[in-house]
Amino acid sequence: MTRCDVVVLGAGPAGSAAAAVLAHRGLAVHVLERARFPRFHIGESLLPMTLCALDELGIALDPDEHQHKAGARFLDETTGQTQTYWFSDTLPGTPDHAYHVVRSRFDAILADHAAACGARIEFGVRARAVEVGPDGVRVETEGTCGPIEARYLVDATGQQALLARRNRTLVKIGDFGRAAAFVHYEGLSDAARAEIEPHGNIQILRTPTGWIWAIPLAGRRLSVGIVAKEGPVTRDDVRAAVASSPLLTRWTEGARPGEPVLVGDYSFLNRAPHGPRFTCVGDAACFLDPVFSSGVTLALLGARRAAERIADAFERGDEADPALLAPHAEHMKRAYQAFYLLIHRFYHTAIFENLFFSVDPDPAMRRGLVTMLAGDVWRDDNVFQNLLFASRHAGAARLIV
Ligand SMILES: Cc1cc2nc3c(=O)[nH]c(=O)nc-3n(C[C@H](O)[C@H](O)[C@H](O)COP(=O)(O)OP(=O)(O)OC[C@H]3O[C@@H](n4cnc5c(N)ncnc54)[C@H](O)[C@@H]3O)c2cc1C
Repeated sequence: MTRCDVVVLGAGPAGSAAAAVLAHRGLAVHVLERARFPRFHIGESLLPMTLCALDELGIALDPDEHQHKAGARFLDETTGQTQTYWFSDTLPGTPDHAYHVVRSRFDAILADHAAACGARIEFGVRARAVEVGPDGVRVETEGTCGPIEARYLVDATGQQALLARRNRTLVKIGDFGRAAAFVHYEGLSDAARAEIEPHGNIQILRTPTGWIWAIPLAGRRLSVGIVAKEGPVTRDDVRAAVASSPLLTRWTEGARPGEPVLVGDYSFLNRAPHGPRFTCVGDAACFLDPVFSSGVTLALLGARRAAERIADAFERGDEADPALLAPHAEHMKRAYQAFYLLIHRFYHTAIFENLFFSVDPDPAMRRGLVTMLAGDVWRDDNVFQNLLFASRHAGAARLIV
């Protein structure tokens, strides 16, 4: 039996960020991670606001180790329409760049930081069952470390969403992308690198059935994924998509593809992301489609902030307060609603024609859109986001949280 103040389930970005803050604030933190690191994970394109979260955590990424990302380019190869959104065009105060990361390395950096802050991390240990009672939390494990008792539980189990599934509070969002297939290409040619690396923009290609991402990674690698509005997708679909795209054919010429990975039904909301002695952070609270790469950014920003509130409560001695995380949930709701609205428009309206490909957009609207694409969705001075919230689609977003 191990006893600690806070047990954190999962050492992805959300779990490690929360663990780092809690341990730094002097709490005894035990992290259980079912995988052994380094391990592969999808979610490689970060938004500029990630830099704020990392800065608050005390982590500075080495720019030589990760691919610089200056913006996002949207294109449709069948019509020739294209438009690039540069993060240097955001509203003042929003960071002007981001990185694409190899997650096995990025997640290890975050976990190492949590350990350096004093968190104890057990890899290869799966949380099997969880009991959250009025006086404490008990976690049964698979692995060598035995059960854990704690005064507080942070669920950062990602798509596993342990508490949401157990408590039946997980609500699937079925009208975004339904399925994805992705593959890494290794050994990009010098010609491809010369074209890609100076800006490192993520490429979002519109296709008749959905969209494709192309994310350049350090070490001559390219991550390519296809997303279908209506699932399912097959491994052959991702190869066929690359073959039918002149851009991707050119960029992957001579490179070695790995084995495609298939995923589906990843967009969901946890209707009860917090309660007495527990909170869910990162994907375990909500994940809304990969199209605008918001996952890791919201996971880091949200987990860090939730952990500060939990640490404050431990100092006051009211960590069992059922409403402890209610203000935090409201704060996150704004971000989920903002991205929900943008993603909803992406899948269900002519936003590509009307906005993304617009050759002469209103400058304030354009800056507002870029600021959202940078993940800075909590400011009041974004006219584009304010209009989005005021739109008739906003009713749909209110239903989800
Ligand atoms: C197809 C696709 C593409 C994506 N692309 C992007 C992108 O480009 N950019 C972006 O920002 N986001 C992207 N995402 C989202 C991104 O992957 C997630 O939002 C992000 O990883 C969430 O971080 P997390 O810490 O909440 O969860 P995770 O990173 O999933 O970490 C959860 C951890 O918990 C561990 N775990 C799970 N269950 C247990 C258990 N029972 N016991 C112990 N440990 C457990 C897991 O092993 C894992 O290490 C994408 C998602 C999908 C599906």
